[in-house]
Amino acid sequence: MRKPDTLERLYLDFDGFFASVEQQARPYLRDKPVGVVPFEGVETTAIIAASKEAKKMGVKSVMSVKEAKRLCPSLLLVPQSPDLYRRAHHALLAEINAVIPVDAVKSIDELTCRLDTEQRNFPEKLSQAIKSRLAENIGPYISCSIGFAPNRHLAKIACKQDKPNGTTIWHPHQIPDVLYPLPFSDIPGIGRRMERRLIQKGVLDMRDLLNLQPKQMRKLWNNVTGERLWYALHGFDIQTPPSDRGMIGHSRVLPPEARTLKAAEPIARMLLIKAARRLRNQQYYAGLLYVSCRTFQAHYSQKLSLPDVCDDQAFLSALKKLWQKFSTLIPKHETLSQLSVSLSNLHKASERQLDLLLLNDENRQQWENVTRAVDHLNARYGKSLITLGSWQPPSGGNLGGKIAYTRIPAQEDFW
Ligand SMILES: [Mg+2]
Repeated sequence: MRKPDTLERLYLDFDGFFASVEQQARPYLRDKPVGVVPFEGVETTAIIAASKEAKKMGVKSVMSVKEAKRLCPSLLLVPQSPDLYRRAHHALLAEINAVIPVDAVKSIDELTCRLDTEQRNFPEKLSQAIKSRLAENIGPYISCSIGFAPNRHLAKIACKQDKPNGTTIWHPHQIPDVLYPLPFSDIPGIGRRMERRLIQKGVLDMRDLLNLQPKQMRKLWNNVTGERLWYALHGFDIQTPPSDRGMIGHSRVLPPEARTLKAAEPIARMLLIKAARRLRNQQYYAGLLYVSCRTFQAHYSQKLSLPDVCDDQAFLSALKKLWQKFSTLIPKHETLSQLSVSLSNLHKASERQLDLLLLNDENRQQWENVTRAVDHLNARYGKSLITLGSWQPPSGGNLGGKIAYTRIPAQEDFW
């Protein structure tokens, strides 16, 4: 594996993107604490972006409006304007492209570029050129933070270190020392669950983590991701693999009382809800639902294409359609024996985020918000407390938490 000996990557992240676009577009919001919310006039919703003035008062994304108002009574609430953000995204991208070619757009407000020789030697100059061009041609209220590093992963971490409007440069000889003081939460690839696991295993801070060997990281993560992260954090040029997952699914042998299409449908729904929960946990969206039904005589399967979705409402209505097809397909006298449900054509949420705003699909977004709230409550109480529609586990329980060689089940598979 190659270990670059110069800066090679730039990572750029706009500061409080939605809120600063609002401030740029609507002068009455400038220099004021602004919270962008999903819908107008709803006090029970959450902040999806906060201006830097609001952040100074402690307002954060995902905070409830009630809490945000308590911290910052003068907070101005603005309903989101996805079309405005989409247009701002394209305009900003065009300006950046005039300074340096954009290598990959990571989300609506994040992107990365490769540096040429001149740019490697003068990163401050490049950062200044991008920032002044954006300020002059788009406006000074939309600012960005930029990180430079030998690889993309490190550049991304660097870019978050000096927000807002910062520039952070990490040369190869400073790696990994600059990472020692950082909290785990600053490292993409270490989620809250992983952080708990690390602490349990006696890896208490970044210094402990960086002193491990690649094989030890692999073991901690239970897969190659840990090892890849080691190389990334130690400054190696490591390419992220393309979306690697094939599918996420569950199957179950049917208990005797559930061997008709009608009786098996609630089980199919539960298998699907479980698969969808795993999908969201791993931050994927699915483009295909596949259901197969085994009877003692034959094997029937049906699939349905979906616009990349992740919410239960979309999956369950697709399942309903497939189920209607099965009822015309499977002869009445046949007895069902096994069901399997899977989601495939998977895309990472980070890729999808952009499409979502480009499509401006508000109804979908609302369902995603609902589903996320449901996941959050279920995770909090450690069981399937809330689901869309009924939830009646079949006799024998254990709806999809079986042990497979290819996958260690997650705790929530057993809910
Ligand atoms: Mg941002």
